[in-house]
Amino acid sequence: MKQFSYSTRSEDILRCRGTTFEVLVIGGGIIGSGVANALSQSGISVILVDRSDFGSGTSSKSSKLIHGGLRYLAQGRLKLTRNLLKERNYLLKHSDVVRKETFDILVGKGQFGKLTIGAGLLLYRLLGGGRPSQFKKNKGEYPEDVDGYFTYTDCVTDDAYLTIMNVVSAHENNAVCLNYVSFIGLEKVAGGIRARLMDVTTGVEFQIQAKMLINCAGAWIREVVPGSKISPETTRLSKGVHLIYPRSVYPGKNSVAFKSPLDGRQMFVIPREKVVIVGTTDTFTDSPDDLEVTSEERSYVMRSCSFVSDSLAKADPIAEYAGIRTLYGKGNKPGKLSRDFKIIEDDISITVIGGKVTDYRRVAYRVAKMVSSKIHTGKVLHEVPRLDYPGLPWHNNIESAINFECSMTISDILERRLGTYYFDPERLEETSNKILEFLQRNNIKMENEFFTGKEKNED
Ligand SMILES: Cc1cc2nc3c(=O)[nH]c(=O)nc-3n(C[C@H](O)[C@H](O)[C@H](O)COP(=O)(O)OP(=O)(O)OC[C@H]3O[C@@H](n4cnc5c(N)ncnc54)[C@H](O)[C@@H]3O)c2cc1C
Repeated sequence: MKQFSYSTRSEDILRCRGTTFEVLVIGGGIIGSGVANALSQSGISVILVDRSDFGSGTSSKSSKLIHGGLRYLAQGRLKLTRNLLKERNYLLKHSDVVRKETFDILVGKGQFGKLTIGAGLLLYRLLGGGRPSQFKKNKGEYPEDVDGYFTYTDCVTDDAYLTIMNVVSAHENNAVCLNYVSFIGLEKVAGGIRARLMDVTTGVEFQIQAKMLINCAGAWIREVVPGSKISPETTRLSKGVHLIYPRSVYPGKNSVAFKSPLDGRQMFVIPREKVVIVGTTDTFTDSPDDLEVTSEERSYVMRSCSFVSDSLAKADPIAEYAGIRTLYGKGNKPGKLSRDFKIIEDDISITVIGGKVTDYRRVAYRVAKMVSSKIHTGKVLHEVPRLDYPGLPWHNNIESAINFECSMTISDILERRLGTYYFDPERLEETSNKILEFLQRNNIKMENEFFTGKEKNED
């Protein structure tokens, strides 16, 4: 296992100045990290940059489901659901950070959905495997507006940590992976591009060259390469919010899929380690930085909960988060736009629009094949991307987070390595103190919140 830390990062920045790579990947979310992992495993030289921490964009703000999407099946998107279920099953088999979860799908009194849901679940099972489910009458497990429920199995993950695992895997395969390095601009040069990058921790700019650029900046793809072929009419942004409650306020054992009594939108209540995560919304937004949870959004999620649990509906959330989806297609309702990804290319760049966490391997493989045929005709790609970094079971420890997963700040550890923010927010202070003790014990300095190096020993 190679060291991958604040200190190797500084060395990598010094070493890569002026270097020519085959590929520059912009954006270290699940898509960019999957792409970098796939390319490096295929022997292609790659540099991956993210202007913030890896996984700090939408890839830590999802519902954290690895699923085929029953809703997509209901919309007749059979091929998408089948592909997603195939990916779900692969990830379940190959990664400890993806695990099975039992869901109850609720049917309200007077709703005509019982037969349709039953048939949909049968098809879902045929496409992806799993046990058949009988309709069960509500005998007080749920509030009285619920007639009954079907039970089915899907998967959950820690989206941010799955992203980190791909980055570490890419690093193990010799990709240069730099968090807190922003892509600022490019100029075309013979044989590719020259890119201007900036180390956000120091403000220092540097340049690298690459034969190709892959734009995986998620909701920011249009900002990153302005004037490219990404049309605002067909590339829409949609915001989704989640609320986090203490596990103690929700008596149920299973996760729940239900339709909001307010507008019929598909929602989830998902018990996780020490919390219950409830979401989500789906509303168009013009800005990739629209990340505040508004009081209307909070109230919508809280009021929708009353269909599932009285105690949950009465409780106050202890944390919340918002994320932005990038959707490809035309239409005036975000819920109707496809969740499938789209890849567009020109002579020197490839841009990925959309792509679910569940589907990241399919996107990465497709991009790697395109790159391979453009610049490496002789190269054969294997089954990629694989996870060559297994992580430690479910969540890692502080030492690994710093020395092998390139955390640069305390928040990087709390939010995207240990998952404390999302899965155990009541222990944020305690865990922060443990991190501070670790830093002190190991003489690790911080400057403007970033880890910078060892403090010289007094003696
Ligand atoms: C509310 C919600 C719920 C969802 N639930 C699910 C789910 O349950 N299951 C599922 O499979 N999918 C789900 N999705 C979809 C999934 O989360 C996203 O499609 C996926 O995370 C997108 O990943 P990405 O890598 O494209 O984008 P991001 O994770 O946003 O990564 C883009 C990165 O680009 C970086 N960047 C931007 N500008 C620059 C620059 N100039 N220089 C360098 N870096 C830059 C950003 O810092 C960011 O880290 C959900 C999405 C939302 C919004």
